[in-house]
Amino acid sequence: MTPEEIEALEAQIYAYVGKEVCTATPAKDAVNETMIRHWTEVMGDTNPAYTNPEWAASSKRGKTIAPPAMMYVWNQEGYAVASTGRPSDAQSDLVQLFNDHGYTGVLGTNVKQEYFAEASPGDQVVMEMVIDTISERKATARGTGYFYETLATFSNQNGVKLGTQRFRVLKFIPQEQPAAASSDSALEVPTRIPSPRGHDNKWWWEACDEGRIMIQRCTSCQTLRHPPRPMCGECQSIEWDAIESTLDGEVLSYTCLRHPSIPGYPKDPVCAVIKLDEGTHLVSNIVGCEYEDVSIGMRVKGKVEQVDEKTMLPQFYPGTGGARS
Ligand SMILES: [Zn+2]
Repeated sequence: MTPEEIEALEAQIYAYVGKEVCTATPAKDAVNETMIRHWTEVMGDTNPAYTNPEWAASSKRGKTIAPPAMMYVWNQEGYAVASTGRPSDAQSDLVQLFNDHGYTGVLGTNVKQEYFAEASPGDQVVMEMVIDTISERKATARGTGYFYETLATFSNQNGVKLGTQRFRVLKFIPQEQPAAASSDSALEVPTRIPSPRGHDNKWWWEACDEGRIMIQRCTSCQTLRHPPRPMCGECQSIEWDAIESTLDGEVLSYTCLRHPSIPGYPKDPVCAVIKLDEGTHLVSNIVGCEYEDVSIGMRVKGKVEQVDEKTMLPQFYPGTGGARS
């Protein structure tokens, strides 16, 4: 936008400051115990002041009250607006004005409620709302735009002010997504989810990165184990070393993951539990043949391969790879 265009737009939007969004409108339903019960159940709020009439009768109020944070609930339009649409008002006109000038992004950024008096079942909540403030043009991480703030004021049927709610919205020009048009679009090719590496398995993945598949071995009883973990399941020793697998083995079980396809992963990958000749099992992929040609008991030979820009993984091929007579 040119400075002149910005100035012209700002003249229009700032004219909305102080405009009424809705005149004093009573809620469709009076404050009632059913809605209070639903709300407190969802929120997990067990305060007896809201839901226990016997407790409340002996309290200083003598009756239950609605949670103050429910103030905005009573005047909600309900599901009907989804089909009938919302009648236009100053706020929807302002939003349209922003949209027409490219400020199509919308982000609710802040809600602030203040409470002055309590409401009890039977009370009628009346809401009024105005557009209270519109900020100067601001550059944000989301894009450049304007914050506008509505101020809703809630009263009861006697004109007693219950509270206020300020709701702040950022209307902004969404930033261009660099991925689509960028010349380094090659960097945007998704990779597989990185392996989670913790205290007990980091060493295993680091060996994999170097092309070796290791099997942990208890140094007390020589039992092999995989995946890596701190203690031997046979003798409870925490002393261990590791041997390198030859990656010869056979298919113990397998399946094809047809749905969903996941960015960064091959389509319809064959996933198998491989029984390594050393004795431990390894979940991996079978590549180099069709899913229909895989069978339980089939001999396979693994190779550690780079499967994407960042990831080394064992991949298993049919046959012995000449490694086993
Ligand atoms: Zn052991």
